[in-house]
Amino acid sequence: MAIQTRQELFTALFPTEPAFRWRQVEEALFLPNAKGWVDATSLPKAIREALMEKMPWMTCKAERLYKSARGDTFKAALSGSDGKLFESVLMANMRDQWTVCVSSQIGCAMGCTFCATGAMGFKRSLTADEIMDQLRYWKEFLRGKPELPQRISNVVFMGMGEPLTNYQNVKKAIHAWLKYTDIGPTKITVSTVGVLMQMEALLKDEDWPPVRIAVSLHSANQKRREEIVPTTSPDFLKKLTDWSHRYARIKGNNRHHITYEYTLITGVNDTPELAHELGKYIKGTSASMINLIPYNPIEGKDFTRTSKPHIAEFKKILETYGLNVTQRKTMGDDIAAACGQLVTESASQTSARDVGRIALDVS
Ligand code: SAH
Ligand code: SF4
Repeated sequence: MAIQTRQELFTALFPTEPAFRWRQVEEALFLPNAKGWVDATSLPKAIREALMEKMPWMTCKAERLYKSARGDTFKAALSGSDGKLFESVLMANMRDQWTVCVSSQIGCAMGCTFCATGAMGFKRSLTADEIMDQLRYWKEFLRGKPELPQRISNVVFMGMGEPLTNYQNVKKAIHAWLKYTDIGPTKITVSTVGVLMQMEALLKDEDWPPVRIAVSLHSANQKRREEIVPTTSPDFLKKLTDWSHRYARIKGNNRHHITYEYTLITGVNDTPELAHELGKYIKGTSASMINLIPYNPIEGKDFTRTSKPHIAEFKKILETYGLNVTQRKTMGDDIAAACGQLVTESASQTSARDVGRIALDVS
């Protein structure tokens, strides 16, 4: 059975209340110092009391929490409204602020061969409340740690799941953040494996927020990509090029920004030939930013991470094509590399030190 959202519950509880009442409820969720409905003082007392009894203030709860050795990454295994677990990550970024890496689903149906979340299969999509509350969870977490920087400046959809196959809920959560927090659209990145149907829908959707898009490319060779990303459709690369140009035309301004993500796996997609193929391919699209992600090995798979000198060589080749190549050290990459790993490992296997390894290894 579908999980009832806060808005549905509110409408069921108060069918005759004017529309602004719901907005007040949602606004209260983001009040800087509110700890519960008791603090939602803009609401009439009777409504507040009913909410205290019936409406969850937070739709996700930390079951396990991990801190990196350096103290710059925190990971939570959160349980959603039905007790199922998903992960969320808080990571220090270069500006002494935080980036939150959110999940959009529990598990993932896309089955990318190198990904731990993919290996779990698909459990369910998260509700808009559960997505939205991951940011609220980390804000509250930081509030309890005044010794840490307090500002969350960025959100990336690089946790579990494929955000574009949970389009409406992802969109709702983003709109709530844009409305009630000071995080702007250029500070939010939706990472997608390249779900073309939804990407087309996005072009026609005037209500789609002007957030950044990251396309997980992993190979500019159609056949190789089909091997590691099994959802790759025939002619995917051509269609993506075409889409990128229409995206630039329709949504084109510097806020709508595309980055290509490329997870480097030894012997799979990291050869000089494939680097040249990638360079040529990207040149033909409307964007020129590529983010290299060193592969984070996962249990039960034979894939290994491309060595540092090899990554440097790969990067050099791409630069000969005039591309803007990054290998970010402290934010998205290592979070993404840990994608889905926390919840799929048992509590005994995952120690705080392991998380430290994930956070520290990327250099
Ligand atoms: N489903 C979306 C967003 C979640 S995955 C997507 O695929 O884009 C976020 C990023 O982490 C993707 O680029 C994905 O390819 C990458 N990733 C997944 N498993 C990884 C691993 N073990 N090591 C490094 N990157 C990984
Ligand atoms: Fe799903 Fe992204 Fe993992 Fe692929 S990489 S299985 S799309 S979460």
